[in-house]
Amino acid sequence: MTEPILPRIRPAIAALAPYRQGKQAGPDAFKLSSNENPFDPLPSVAEALQHTTPINRYPDATAGRLRARLGERYGVDADQVHVAAGSVSILHQLILATASVGDEVIYAWRSFEAYPSLPLVAGATGVQVPLTAESRHDLEAMADAVTERTRAIILCTPNNPTGPIITSDEFATFVARVPGDVLIILDEAYAEFVTAPDAVNGLTGRLHEKHPNVVVLRTFSKAYGLAGLRVGYAIGNVAVLNAARATGIPLSVTSAAENAAIASLDAEPELLERVAVIVERRTRLVEGLRAQGWDVPDSQANFVWLPTAERTDEIAAAFGENDLVVRAFPGDGIRISVGEEGSIDRVLEVAAGVR
Ligand code: PMP
Repeated sequence: MTEPILPRIRPAIAALAPYRQGKQAGPDAFKLSSNENPFDPLPSVAEALQHTTPINRYPDATAGRLRARLGERYGVDADQVHVAAGSVSILHQLILATASVGDEVIYAWRSFEAYPSLPLVAGATGVQVPLTAESRHDLEAMADAVTERTRAIILCTPNNPTGPIITSDEFATFVARVPGDVLIILDEAYAEFVTAPDAVNGLTGRLHEKHPNVVVLRTFSKAYGLAGLRVGYAIGNVAVLNAARATGIPLSVTSAAENAAIASLDAEPELLERVAVIVERRTRLVEGLRAQGWDVPDSQANFVWLPTAERTDEIAAAFGENDLVVRAFPGDGIRISVGEEGSIDRVLEVAAGVR
C-alpha cells in the first residue's frame, strides 16, 4: 500500500509530543498523578452548576461576572483580570502574544510539563535553565540567560513537580535584573497550599502593580477542586492581558465553569479548610519519607517529589502494583500528589519497601 499524501506539518510541531496526562486509575486505586483535589465538590458548588445558561446559548465571552468578582477579591479593576479555560490556556496566550520566530522564552527545568511546547508552538525558542541541587529555581542563572531575544520568562512557584517555592527576596532581586520589556509570568497554580512565610506571592505582594511586566497566574483546578471544569485566571497589566485575550479562542470558558468558580469564591473558607487538611497530609508524607532516608525537597504544593533517578521505572511500577497511580519522570524522579487520607500510609509503606 502506498502511503497517502498528508498535509505538511510544521517541523517543530511534528517533533512535539502531545501533552501526556497522568494515568487514569482503576476503581480501587488512588489517583495521585495529576495534583488534583481529592475532595468531592461542595454541595453549594454542585448546586451552582444547576443554574447555568441554557446549553443552547453561548456563555458570556468576557466571563464578566467572575472577572468582577475576582477584581473585588484582589482589589483590582475587572480589566486587570483575565479568565480562560484553565491557566494553561493563559500560558499559551501570553507566549503567543509575546514570542515568535527568533525570540526566546526562558523557564526552569524540570518544571511543568506543558512549558516546553509553549515557545515551540509560537515558533519561538525555549531556553531551559536547570534547577539547583535543591530542586529550586536558579534565579541567578535565569537572569544570566536573558538576551536581547528574550521575550518572556516563566517562573513556577511552588515548582511543579519538585515542590519548592521562590522567596519574595529572590524574586525582588530577579525582577530588578530583568529588563522591563520582558514579560515575567509568575505561575502560582499551587499558591493556596503555600505555608512558608518567605514565599513570593504575586497577589498579596501586589507585584503586578509594582512591575507592569509581571503577570500572576492562578487556577481553580487545584485548591478549589474544579479541574474538570477548566477555569483559571491571570492578574496583571491591562495592555498585556488584552494581548493575551486577543490570542485566545473566544467563548472557551463555559457558563458552568464561571458559575462554579463564583460559588467556590463564596465558599472559600470551607475550601481553605480542605486545603489545610491537604497541607497536614503533605507534612506527614514529607516527614515520613525523610525519616525513611529519602531526600525529599521542601514541598509547598499538593504533591511531593521522590528523587528516584535511574530507579524511577522500577519504583513507579511498585507504586502501581499497590494501586497507587503516580507520575514518573524516567531517569529523574516520581511526583506523588497528596490525595485521600487512606493514600498517605500506603504511599509511605510502598516507599519504605523500595528504599
Ligand atoms: N501551571 C502549573 C504549574 C500546573 O501544574 C498546572 C496544572 N498541572 C497548570 C498551570 C494548569 O492548570 P489549569 O490549566 O488546570 O488551570
